Amino acid sequence: MRTPVDPRTSWDLPAPGAMPRTADLEPLVTRVLAPNPSPMTLDGTNTYLVGAPGRGQAVLVDPGPDDPAHLAAVEAALAARDARCVAVLVTHHHGDHAEAALPWGARFGARVAAADARVAGPDGRVLEPGERLALAGTTLGVVPTPGHTADHVAFRLESGAVLVGDHVLGRGTSVVTHPEGDVLAYLASLRRVHDLGPSALYCGHGPELTEDPGAVLDFYLAHRRFREQQLLAAMVRGAGTVDELVADVYAEVPREVWPAAAQSTRATLAKLAAEGHVVLDGDRVALP
Ligand SMILES: [Zn+2]
Repeated sequence: MRTPVDPRTSWDLPAPGAMPRTADLEPLVTRVLAPNPSPMTLDGTNTYLVGAPGRGQAVLVDPGPDDPAHLAAVEAALAARDARCVAVLVTHHHGDHAEAALPWGARFGARVAAADARVAGPDGRVLEPGERLALAGTTLGVVPTPGHTADHVAFRLESGAVLVGDHVLGRGTSVVTHPEGDVLAYLASLRRVHDLGPSALYCGHGPELTEDPGAVLDFYLAHRRFREQQLLAAMVRGAGTVDELVADVYAEVPREVWPAAAQSTRATLAKLAAEGHVVLDGDRVALP
């Protein structure tokens, strides 16, 4: 069992904390970084403005936290694009992506669209898998990517880039939440995005991945297989509870992310139990 190698270790990515507040990633896309860095949100939440240049319109994807400094930065980026916000799209219901959706949608007079009706709100639009949204002089495809959460969607742009939310992060790996998330769905979603042959992955947190997006998706798939093997190996060594498994498998990661690691561990154990590889009884786990 070899540790999968993260291809990004040899890429020239900005160091944590060194991402610019606002960046034009391609003619269609400007990114605005929210001031909410943390171990779970990395450099902070990435908010994206998408629109055809010169059309005077932009779609806001994942507005992020309802923070006045972030709003000011987003409004400055809209002004720099000479665009007004015509729609707010959200990848999933977590607050670091969705909190500002309804208040900013109201402020901009723009409709909110999300796969979760609670995020879209009473006047919003519930996104359907596979639909194509013609907005701001361009088209965004709705790619279902459940796994991190049940409602997670990604947005495929005309350029071939995919806005992936928390399905793939610019640094490290993502979390499959538990009980909402689903490892089997997550793996299928990774393959679905891989099959699109994305030209770039614009992540919910961390830098944009442009050099070899497919290699990152391959690494994510290998990483999940590796975690399964690590959990089974830790059980052979005597780990018999979720906490013992986390302490063993995640010994090298900071303790502040152990609660998230425990969620991913529970989600992986649920998959292994469904496959008959482990027997789960509450927090206790055993080999069959
Ligand atoms: Zn997030």
